[in-house]
Amino acid sequence: ALTWGQRLVLHRHKSSLPDVRERTLIAIKPDGVQRRLVGQIIHRFEQRGFKLVGLKMLQASQDVLSEHYCDLRTKPFYNSLVRYMTSGPLVVMVWEGHNVVQTSRTMVGNTNPAEAQAGTVRGDFSIHVSRNVVHASDSVEGAQKEIQLWFQTKDLLDWDSWDQTSTGD
Ligand code: ADP
Repeated sequence: ALTWGQRLVLHRHKSSLPDVRERTLIAIKPDGVQRRLVGQIIHRFEQRGFKLVGLKMLQASQDVLSEHYCDLRTKPFYNSLVRYMTSGPLVVMVWEGHNVVQTSRTMVGNTNPAEAQAGTVRGDFSIHVSRNVVHASDSVEGAQKEIQLWFQTKDLLDWDSWDQTSTGD
């Protein structure tokens, strides 16, 4: 286990990384909520070292989904995708940290669970592409658009990590 001093050094080192403010949108899809996977998925992102800056549970509207999945409108599975995504509540989150977009995609795994590695969310919790538990933005620009679509700026919190001097007094 690391001492407080070591953790502080690690923290300062992390904070000095140039793109530490990168953000991504992660959504736990209705099957993830139904299967009580919310805690386990959040745990993975916390454990990895990312910072949660926005979180809400909601029932998605058709309008937001048609914007979110606008690139997929012509796909044969589009209507069933929208039915799936509106079949129950989602947990939508914004996570921040160094290279968070790319690292989250790796943590989430291949779109098709048959090709998702064990150890990824999809590789550990799903078997079919139409019930693949989680969404993660696929590029930094895509993440910015998705964050704007799902969140108001005021609902994203820019908080500082505690260090050893923050004991509450
Ligand atoms: P990703 O979610 O990994 O970025 P895509 O953007 O290609 O993948 O697809 C968006 C979502 O559409 C997928 O996560 C999955 O829920 C659904 N989807 C993709 N391909 C299929 C398919 N062939 N059949 C059913 N649903 C699909």
